[in-house]
Amino acid sequence: MVWLSLLELLLPTRCAGCDLPGDLLCDECRAALPLIETRWACPRCGAPFGHLVCTECWRAEPAFAAGVCVGSLAPPLSRCVSLYKDAGERRLGTLLGDLLGAAVGAWGGWPQAVVPVPASDSALRTRGFDHTAAIALRVAESLEVPLLQALACAGARDQRALSRVERRANVEGAFVAACAAPLPPRLLLIDDVMTTGATLDAAAAVLLAAGAEVVRVGAVARAW
Ligand SMILES: [Zn+2]
Ligand SMILES: [Zn+2]
Repeated sequence: MVWLSLLELLLPTRCAGCDLPGDLLCDECRAALPLIETRWACPRCGAPFGHLVCTECWRAEPAFAAGVCVGSLAPPLSRCVSLYKDAGERRLGTLLGDLLGAAVGAWGGWPQAVVPVPASDSALRTRGFDHTAAIALRVAESLEVPLLQALACAGARDQRALSRVERRANVEGAFVAACAAPLPPRLLLIDDVMTTGATLDAAAAVLLAAGAEVVRVGAVARAW
């Protein structure tokens, strides 16, 4: 396509990790992704601190039964995430979705549907697209299961500026069930970044209350 090659001439694709022209993520940056080894991560929340359930999950008993995070929120993965969600490089949604699809693929086709954590109205207005739904769609395609928009926001504030305790309080009542049809028993809930797990915990609790039997979670990046 002529216009695509013209566009490539004017705005050449640059690596999301190091800015070198060429690929969206160069081989070197791809090899440098701070991936989390599932074998050495908490099976409940995906934190890379050993293969046993971490103290956080032990204490808080999250509503989700298991979790996987692709990598730590560190360069070059953190740069991919922020270019995707805050700088509008939407092509990274496919790349991040493929990474997450491969990570949750280790569960061997476990979920019956994929559910994204919904975006708030203000986040949708700011970004112009639902960045988590795009990642979740890619994951659903790779697992060959449907994407269900089974949750809606009930109006929580942006979590990013809040402390740990504030985050938990902020997400209580943040989501409501929004699916007319009965939910399949086994759901995979997707978010872009998992920090305390409070958002995924609150969203999973709503899915369980709405009829799901087991909810597992997957996130592209794990932050602390
Ligand atoms: Zn690079
Ligand atoms: Zn944990």
